[in-house]
Amino acid sequence: MTVRSIRFRLTAWYAGLLTAVVVALCALLFLHLKSYLENTLLETQSRRATQIANTLVAKEESTGEAYVSRAVAELYDPEKSDRFIRITAGDGRVIYVSGVPFSHAFDPAAVPAAPASPLAAFTRKQPVAGGPALLIAAVRAGGGASPYLVEVGTSAAPVETLFHHLLLLLALGLPLVAVLAASGGYLLIHWTLRPVDRIAGKAEQITQHNLSERLPVPGTGDEFDSLSIALNRMITRLDDAFLNSKRFVADASHELRTPLTILRGELESMFHEGVPAPHRERVGALLVEVERLSMIVERLFALSRLDAGEAQSEWVRFDLAELATTTAGQMTLLAEDRRIAVSCEAPSPVMVHGDRSRLKQVVVNLLDNAIKYTQEGGAVRLRVLASQDLAFLEIIDTGVGIPPEDLPRIFNRFFRVNQTRSQHPEGAGLGLAIVESICNANHCEIEVESVLGKGSCFRVKLPLAA
Ligand code: ADP
Repeated sequence: MTVRSIRFRLTAWYAGLLTAVVVALCALLFLHLKSYLENTLLETQSRRATQIANTLVAKEESTGEAYVSRAVAELYDPEKSDRFIRITAGDGRVIYVSGVPFSHAFDPAAVPAAPASPLAAFTRKQPVAGGPALLIAAVRAGGGASPYLVEVGTSAAPVETLFHHLLLLLALGLPLVAVLAASGGYLLIHWTLRPVDRIAGKAEQITQHNLSERLPVPGTGDEFDSLSIALNRMITRLDDAFLNSKRFVADASHELRTPLTILRGELESMFHEGVPAPHRERVGALLVEVERLSMIVERLFALSRLDAGEAQSEWVRFDLAELATTTAGQMTLLAEDRRIAVSCEAPSPVMVHGDRSRLKQVVVNLLDNAIKYTQEGGAVRLRVLASQDLAFLEIIDTGVGIPPEDLPRIFNRFFRVNQTRSQHPEGAGLGLAIVESICNANHCEIEVESVLGKGSCFRVKLPLAA
């Protein structure tokens, strides 16, 4: 499903609604105007018909039908004024009908007879083939029991033409109204929603590492202010909770270090002094577990120190190529045990700034993992190179690889890929968390590419020293 932004949806609604209202209003206005104009024209025809009926037809008995026809033609000259006049006797004889009008808008001879009506005066809109309708008013007058019917009409063409012009205007103006409404609405909504972008942008930047920062409060006193303030209160509560949990880990790991060291010392001396045979194996197993526990506690303690911002204790300029080469040399013994070839490509010095001993820890942890998670006979490669203003340290192995769905989580504390949990029970899932913390503190970026069953590449990017 396509998700459209609020800006798009509000603009579409606003522009659509405004256009619909304009169309509805115009339609109402046009229809009202048309019927008003037609009625006005019909009233005029009515008055004229009444006039003819009163002044001419009433006198017909004394003056004769021929006189009436002549008088109407002379006095009203219907052809010139584009008017239709017809006088029909009570017996149905047409005693007068006007000629073809000047504008040729209709043919008077083709206008059908008036429909039967009990009313003394009535109006109608008479459709005419091939042209605009005729607006006709009819009045009965004179003639005793069967009165004459005087019909006066005019073409509805002016009204129709005006109506067509207005429709054309609406058809041309409507897209303009829609475009203006859409662009005006979009600008208005965009301007109104700008604080949301600022709040969202800042919220995206806040992570567990900078929970002391706060979202901007627009200061407009509206709902966005309330939202920002509420979110800031939530961040404060999160910050407190994070601090408490970090303090707890730091205190717990610190308190556990001494008793664990004593325990390990005691077990080691027991083991070396010679424990009776039935207990020797059990003491050996205890020693392995205590060593594992000590490693976890040491790593937790290291992480809590990094969390407390103590990672940049020795900020120096050093050669990353030399650091990688020596570290690789120191760890080859570990690799040789498992018949894994470790090679290092660092042809020229690559100078960087940072905490050398902690960055060495990064190389150690990544190399240790690469050796640990590569099968016997595999290969691990270290590469240090410089490109533009960045230094790159790459640790590439031909090991087991990491499933794609686990890649985003491998830097989380205590996270381990399920398969490695069973094959390497000695790990704790803290090595990469330490690597990430050190990288954050040293302004380095770390990324990983991995293909399951083929191998992995961990890449650390850091700025070159000037
Ligand atoms: P640990 O190695 O103690 O389990 P880490 O934090 O160093 O903990 O690593 C977390 C997990 O990431 C490991 O358990 C392993 O599943 C996976 N991993 C790390 N490095 C590699 C690698 N080079 N090849 C394959 N998997 C790796």
